[in-house]
Amino acid sequence: MSREQRRAALNAIISDYERGGFDPSRIVTVFGLVRDLVAVLENKSNLRRMSDAGALLMKVYDDTARKHGRPAELACKKGCGYCCHTRVTVTAPEIFLLARAVRPRWEDENDGLQSSFQKQEAVTRGLSIEERYATRTACPLLTDGSCGMYEPRPLTCRAYGSRSLDACISLYNTTVNNVPQSEMSQLMRAVIFAGLKAALKRCGLDGQGYELGHALTAAMPQDAEERWLAGEAIFADVSQEFRAAERSEGHRAFDQLVDVFCAGAFGEDVPPNPYFMWPR
Ligand code: SF4
Repeated sequence: MSREQRRAALNAIISDYERGGFDPSRIVTVFGLVRDLVAVLENKSNLRRMSDAGALLMKVYDDTARKHGRPAELACKKGCGYCCHTRVTVTAPEIFLLARAVRPRWEDENDGLQSSFQKQEAVTRGLSIEERYATRTACPLLTDGSCGMYEPRPLTCRAYGSRSLDACISLYNTTVNNVPQSEMSQLMRAVIFAGLKAALKRCGLDGQGYELGHALTAAMPQDAEERWLAGEAIFADVSQEFRAAERSEGHRAFDQLVDVFCAGAFGEDVPPNPYFMWPR
């Protein structure tokens, strides 16, 4: 394939994305999202570019979910917060987006939010995934069984959809995860999330996931996003997504997808992979 042919193939993919958004049945349309995220992240004059990238990510997920549908038979209901007792990890764009919305409550002395975060931190800091599950500690944003920050909630929370309340209760009680989930939501989440990680990697930015409660606490100062963008390691003490020993074959396959999106979105050679190759 000549350089011109590859450019034409890429342009066709990007045009499809611009016309119809991300299409989970054709995962390379996520190249359009990667490029849009990179454009936001490279705008150095924007001191809120990480949270703006987070907002773009959520919009694309919500648009995709609206278009390609959440299954009608989900067991999830308002006021049921079993799934909010697990460890949720979030990337920097998601943290700073949440921080923008949480800050007014954090600064309100009459709101008990700060003390909820402190209690969660005291119980969960330094624990492995399994140890964290076993404490059954609620997310500090959980309020009366519902998400207290529904609009900017992280991608993981957006995409979670259980088909069985019994399985959720069983997970909560036993920490054995047999929760049947919407395959479409999980596919959308995985591909869009890989797109985000690819954009962050492309820009040389940290794409690591951090424990939600601890990371949000670190992001609460007004100037946190600006300091992070200036290179300050404000999440240095926050538990990370996975310890090396916790990384599985599935995680390595995900990393491969990130590399494919990182190069492919810009028409570059992609590493050998089972997902996408430029036509020959
Ligand atoms: S952010 Fe909201 S949806 Fe996600 S775990 Fe916390 S309370 Fe639940």
